[in-house]
Amino acid sequence: MNIAQNLKLIKSTLPEQVTLVAVSKTKPVNALMEAYNSGQRVFGENKVQEMVEKYELMPKDVEWHMIGHLQRNKVKYMASFVNLIHGVDNFKLLKEINKQAKKHNRIIDCLFQIKIAKEDSKFGMSTNEVSKILSSQEFLELKNIKVTGVMGMATFTSDKVQIKQEFDSLKTTFDNLKPLETFNFKPQTISMGMSGDYKLAIACGSNMIRVGSSIFGSRNYSV
Ligand SMILES: *Cc1c(COP(=O)(O)O)cnc(C)c1O
Repeated sequence: MNIAQNLKLIKSTLPEQVTLVAVSKTKPVNALMEAYNSGQRVFGENKVQEMVEKYELMPKDVEWHMIGHLQRNKVKYMASFVNLIHGVDNFKLLKEINKQAKKHNRIIDCLFQIKIAKEDSKFGMSTNEVSKILSSQEFLELKNIKVTGVMGMATFTSDKVQIKQEFDSLKTTFDNLKPLETFNFKPQTISMGMSGDYKLAIACGSNMIRVGSSIFGSRNYSV
């Protein structure tokens, strides 16, 4: 199977409202180009420097999503072009994104990362923390960001029952936050599901899936 075939196969199973983010981290530009040439335009990376390098080499109609854990001091390198930042897990980071977006006269779309996994290693906020942010005066001052939804990562386990519970909890969080809509909080996206669990995620209400290895093959971190 090649990349174009993998993409075609996955896309043929996706409901219309689901956006496929092709997670291309660690993969070379020629692999991304293969996906691009078969029509894929949305790519996800988890390291800022790698995303910037690929941005410079790829056609300019690519939509770049930052899906990884993000440090505040790295935001400036991608503020001119990033389309969606999935992993916003604290207010200071959101403020920094707003500041850098303003410099470029842009509005940057973001998702709040919600902690749904029981594993300690996963990042994210609670529904409560997010509601607090959304109802604060400080949030309303951020005119250069728009929070368009939530993102979550399930526990790394083969226990489908547990994964389903975690996905359900993200959908519930989304539904609970929805009434808090403001000019800069326009909830529409639920980013959940990866290669191993995207079908379950969609069944639980996901409308944005982040798929890497099922498109590009397994990753080798040692090279
Ligand atoms: C790597 C990664 C993915 C894709 O994982 P696959 O199992 O290869 O599909 C999705 N989301 C995040 C946040 C990732 O870091």
